[in-house]
Amino acid sequence: MKKVELLSPAGNYEKLETVYHYGADAAYIGGKFLNLRAFSKNFEDDELEKAVELAHKLNKKLFITVNAIPHNGDLEILPEYIKYLESIKVDAIIVADLGVFNIVRKLSNLPITISTQANNTNWASVSMWKDLGAKRIILARELSLSEIAEIRQKVPDVELEVFIHGAMCISVSGRCLLSNYLTGRDANTGECTQPCRWKYYIMEEKRPGEYFPIFEDEKGTYIMNSKDLCTVDFLNKIIETGVDSLKIEGRMKSSYYAGVTTKIYREAIDSYYSGNFKKENIEKWIKELQSVSHREYTSGFYLNKPDTDSQNYKTSSYIRNYKFVGKVIEKISESQYIVDVRNKIKKGEEIEIVSKIGNNIAIHLNKIVDYETKESLEEANPNQKIIIDSEKNIEVGDLIRVLL
Ligand code: SF4
Repeated sequence: MKKVELLSPAGNYEKLETVYHYGADAAYIGGKFLNLRAFSKNFEDDELEKAVELAHKLNKKLFITVNAIPHNGDLEILPEYIKYLESIKVDAIIVADLGVFNIVRKLSNLPITISTQANNTNWASVSMWKDLGAKRIILARELSLSEIAEIRQKVPDVELEVFIHGAMCISVSGRCLLSNYLTGRDANTGECTQPCRWKYYIMEEKRPGEYFPIFEDEKGTYIMNSKDLCTVDFLNKIIETGVDSLKIEGRMKSSYYAGVTTKIYREAIDSYYSGNFKKENIEKWIKELQSVSHREYTSGFYLNKPDTDSQNYKTSSYIRNYKFVGKVIEKISESQYIVDVRNKIKKGEEIEIVSKIGNNIAIHLNKIVDYETKESLEEANPNQKIIIDSEKNIEVGDLIRVLL
């Protein structure tokens, strides 16, 4: 049986290494042109080449987003960019706009994925894109399991991709002018400031500075603040709709977020195929997914139409249980590893190595040694390189966290 693909986000080269390390089959990244995550650190050209090399060396895939909705002026460098992407052998490009699709199709043989920004919510539009030559369609987030299964059954010979984890839009994905209207930054060019998560009050024009609450409680209200999508407890049902690829959202999120979500969904997918998609494992995965920065979880549109319970009315703050403190970058002896410190670590602390596969490894930090000076330290700070001891086998690329 062909396994469904696990597709993870990568906002920069390090995140790309991390998601491949934790088991992503493919990753999606943005180049500098028409990329919907304009504010994440998008890949410059030479980094794109490096990224493709890394992907293919590991036998993985790499997709590039070109999925903003362009204006005339945006199109000028598109032909050159498309030819460049084809020359470096990216595995597909992700587009949302019909004009961009047409230019890519005429100028290259690159496989084309249709972005979720194109809002494909029915089999007829999926079928139309297939007829035009698209290789894969990312379905809109606003679909139920039965709608997806029906699309699969009616259009069998095109790849389908769906979101399984991450932030939701309160508007039909991306078709939203809130950010543009309130801040001048447009969601359709990747610059959304997420005003749907803001806290709103009413102000009468003759009483400036007097805020009247629209309230659920004393904290005010977040009337458009969607919970985040999490599907790990019914991932089996998503796989059984017959889709080809399961996508994690979050190119703006941290390496830690990208790594942990990838690891958990990797385990869940593998467990499904090995007959271990069981209650005790699901509970463990949910607990792990609670450890990454998130906003409370919802099943989105998959199981039922979202209702009042799919919103978070109290806060738009993120919940997180762990602090990401470092990354293992080299093994220097049987039991010694160099760690690149990202947040302060103190001697005597319990750290946890997020293992690539299976249970994490807890280590009591009896000593920390500075890699450069070889001096023993009481604490280490961001960007410092330290040596830690571990009798248990840890791997280069593993992330390290401490409980908050
Ligand atoms: S403001 Fe919210 S609903 Fe609108 S595009 Fe941004 S994230 Fe989506």
